[in-house]
Amino acid sequence: MSAIDLYRHDIIIVGGGGAGLRAAIAAAEADPSQSIALVSKVYPMRSHTVSAEGGAAAVARADDTLEMHGYDTVKGSDFLGDQHVIEYFVEEAPKELTLLEHWGLPFSRNEDGTVATRAFGGMTTKRTWYAADKIGFHMLHTLFQTSLKYDNIVRYDEHFVSKLLIANDGSCRGVAAHDIRTGEMKAIIGKAVMLTTGGGGKIFPFTTNGMIKTGDGMALAYREGVPLKDMEFVQYHPTGLPGTGILITEATRGEGGYLTNKDGERFLVERDYGVGSKAELGPRDMISRAIVQEIEAGRGLSGPYGDYVNLDLRHLGEAKIDERLPFVRLLGRTYVGVDPVKDPLPIRPVVHYMMGGVDTDIDCATQLSGLYAAGETACVSLNGANRLGSNSLTECLVFGARGARHMTQYAKSIGQIDDKALVEQAKAEADRIDQLRGRQKGGEKLSEIRRKLNEAMESGCGVYRQQDTMKACLQDVSQLRGRVADLQLTDPSRVFNTEVIAALELANMVDVAEALAASALSRKESRGAHTCKDYPHRDDQNYLYHTMCTFSPSGPVIGKKDVTLGHWEPEERKY
Ligand SMILES: Cc1cc2nc3c(=O)[nH]c(=O)nc-3n(C[C@H](O)[C@H](O)[C@H](O)COP(=O)(O)OP(=O)(O)OC[C@H]3O[C@@H](n4cnc5c(N)ncnc54)[C@H](O)[C@@H]3O)c2cc1C
Repeated sequence: MSAIDLYRHDIIIVGGGGAGLRAAIAAAEADPSQSIALVSKVYPMRSHTVSAEGGAAAVARADDTLEMHGYDTVKGSDFLGDQHVIEYFVEEAPKELTLLEHWGLPFSRNEDGTVATRAFGGMTTKRTWYAADKIGFHMLHTLFQTSLKYDNIVRYDEHFVSKLLIANDGSCRGVAAHDIRTGEMKAIIGKAVMLTTGGGGKIFPFTTNGMIKTGDGMALAYREGVPLKDMEFVQYHPTGLPGTGILITEATRGEGGYLTNKDGERFLVERDYGVGSKAELGPRDMISRAIVQEIEAGRGLSGPYGDYVNLDLRHLGEAKIDERLPFVRLLGRTYVGVDPVKDPLPIRPVVHYMMGGVDTDIDCATQLSGLYAAGETACVSLNGANRLGSNSLTECLVFGARGARHMTQYAKSIGQIDDKALVEQAKAEADRIDQLRGRQKGGEKLSEIRRKLNEAMESGCGVYRQQDTMKACLQDVSQLRGRVADLQLTDPSRVFNTEVIAALELANMVDVAEALAASALSRKESRGAHTCKDYPHRDDQNYLYHTMCTFSPSGPVIGKKDVTLGHWEPEERKY
């Protein structure tokens, strides 16, 4: 068996994005004497959070209330969000953003010096705090720099976690982390582990998500028997650049941009797409569907990268675009050769966010003792069937912090850990990766399986879905699960072997995709982002529940979990 190095901490956080860094700081403050490992497969500032553009939501203005933010979120979720979670979230949101303001986040300002807010889809008032159109960059910097104040946060940058370590009593007590720089395996052992590994948009071919968003945390938890919840709900963002999928933020519409078809018509105003007077500021699921329908009706435009519609910002004027949306201007010029001051930007819906994830309770605890999850990888049930834009950065803060405090308490209740079984598992994992590295004997190409996976997901689980195409997608993906075990790799080196990392990520993507397709097939209704053509209506009688997808060697097993209702009664979702 391979030799491994052993590291001990009180708690371990996997992921250095918004949720992971916020969790690490909260844990360091909750107990300055505890040692916290922060493990990330990329340097923290490269986490996907850095690319967030539009802003983060929290009640700030006199014309806004927590009740309104709560209702908007519940309605946006198509009544699938858990209402006790939503109530806690809206209460904590202003406190968290104010805290970041005090830590130095340079929010944009109103004339009178107060924090500026902008409109976002599905929100009844201007509630989104922003920093021009680079909120993620500023938020991640603020969190990262704040985290440097704490000596008890020990970072493991560029370490890829490939397995959770499970003690003899069945609880999670550590991670096997592959040091990408040296190729060595480390057993990082602690009393509790939190997954903050982000989403998995890369299972789809056309996405705003960075290369690193491969659903690793979801797959790690799933393989240890923790259910993935509400995986069928995948958010398409209405405005991605054709070709690359680069995001053009919703802030463009928040600042007054129009969506137009080939005749220059504002179709969200001219036709009934359910968004009412909200028009361009309707929720993302509805606007994405409207764009697809416009294109299918022959009112789209065609370009080298397929059909699209226009996002017209010209009437905002150069000064406003430069002040509020400078990054959008740069992206337009650089990636499609269009200056939005002079011409409309071509856009089409693009996979953006996963509402589903690792099932947790409101404390971010999973069913596996010692394992927590927060941020996009988790499903604490804030977003239900459709997330409102700008709620997710705030979610990372609110639940990263809550989960870390809870986990700190939990860790205090755990006595001495018996390392033996954990070390054995890490050694077995080191062997597995050693055998994978430069594995010549396999018969399958990594790029080919990834391409097939992407194709299956796009054709079966896109904006519009059908029973037969979802079934075909599930079959295709299940078949890939066998094939991914037989990869042929070419690079035997240990130092920065990115091929072996890509192979581990691909296996994670296949597991996540299979859970997603199985969950989607099981929901025979249309709700939020899950639009099933064979069942075009929402069916509260039979489907007002969370889908729980559990791993089994013979394929995903689907179960249910009650939605926590409360203050807001389910009603038809109209704007
Ligand atoms: C282009 C874009 C723009 C967006 N704009 C907004 C916005 O304006 N407002 C908003 O609210 N939301 C926005 N979102 C969504 C939001 O940014 C994300 O949901 C959120 O940032 C996710 O944060 P996270 O901490 O959960 O994960 P991430 O920021 O994705 O971080 C994941 C971390 O996990 C680590 N990791 C992953 N796998 C492993 C592994 N196997 N081993 C070790 N480490 C691992 C990574 O290294 C990384 O540090 C946007 C998303 C995108 C893609």
